[in-house]
Amino acid sequence: MKGTFPLQQFHKLRTPFYYYDTALLRQTLDTIRTEASRYENYAVHYAVKANANPKLLTIIRESGLGADCVSGGEIRAAVKAGFPAGKIVFAGVGKADWEIELALDYDIFCFNVESVPELEVIEQLAAAKGKTARVAFRINPDVGAHTHANITTGLAENKFGISMQDMDRVIDRCMGMEHVQFIGLHFHIGSQILDMGDFVALCNRINELQDRLEARHIRIGHINVGGGLGIDYGHPNRQPVPDFKTYFATYASRLRLRPGQTLHFELGRSVVGQCGSLISRVLYVKQGVNKQFAILDAGMTDLIRPALYQAVHKIENLSSEAPTETYDVVGPVCESSDVFGKGVTLNGTKRGDFIALRSAGAYGEIMASSYNCRELPKGYTSDEFI
Ligand SMILES: *Cc1c(COP(=O)(O)O)cnc(C)c1O
Repeated sequence: MKGTFPLQQFHKLRTPFYYYDTALLRQTLDTIRTEASRYENYAVHYAVKANANPKLLTIIRESGLGADCVSGGEIRAAVKAGFPAGKIVFAGVGKADWEIELALDYDIFCFNVESVPELEVIEQLAAAKGKTARVAFRINPDVGAHTHANITTGLAENKFGISMQDMDRVIDRCMGMEHVQFIGLHFHIGSQILDMGDFVALCNRINELQDRLEARHIRIGHINVGGGLGIDYGHPNRQPVPDFKTYFATYASRLRLRPGQTLHFELGRSVVGQCGSLISRVLYVKQGVNKQFAILDAGMTDLIRPALYQAVHKIENLSSEAPTETYDVVGPVCESSDVFGKGVTLNGTKRGDFIALRSAGAYGEIMASSYNCRELPKGYTSDEFI
């Protein structure tokens, strides 16, 4: 089954571009709100790095989510979209001084701190402003998510976070500081995780760490488990809204929260992934020796996930109902890795056909580059076509 798209409207637009189904986005956000509100102490943030298109950010902010930012630019984008500073958290291994100062000026909710040197800089910069920064420590729980090596972040040898062994030392260091306030622990084990067992492993680690804190009579108000819930790239129409019910219930049953603690989530891909498609047109169908190529006007500069992570996006020919044939679907960029899929089954394809690369709402438009002096793709929402 193919997705439904306003093809008539597409004819007026220059390809390639991103198309966002805002009805699906709103349905996804409604599900998140309904499922999270079963638990009184859940706070959900949207990971802005997945897609910072201002039209999407506004819809996401309207639904009441907070924002998880990984740069000063993202903090600015979140503030501009109307996210209250009190719902913004700031993560990242390499926060520059100006970014920390910006976050202090806005008085964001919390810095997710990834090293002692970073903690010291935050203390210094906060002192200079006469402010106190709330901090959570990002602990590397040494839990491997069963996903692509380039998107696991919770293993001991990753660059992210503070090791479990170092946690007590870092907390001690923090206790001696006047301008930082230690309020919680932060974790994020990876992305595109579909095996709830990975999140269970994270819960077990957090339970251990909380016991260790309690033995030291340290109480914290906040646990942040990051994001990482995956989506079904193979079947975008089968489960357009990810299974947030099971996801939230897994944490509710496995994580031992203490009275009064808030559990924070930072969801990116699962919020926006399925609502977006990259729409392109076929420039040429070229016969090779043993195969045929569908050469698109979209390339890795528009959607880099296949080249970067060997990611597979479902590809559909929106213009054709002709019998299916097999194609290598490639882009125009001068790189051999500019391939969207090999041996892809498409309805018989010809020059000018509209091709949709589905499930491209997350880590698509935002990762676009102008390599080869190509124009950045625009993003349109279904709202604009009514
Ligand atoms: C990328 C990231 C997220 C979001 O990850 P998704 O897999 O898109 O849900 C959340 N938290 C942190 C710290 C991140 O770096």
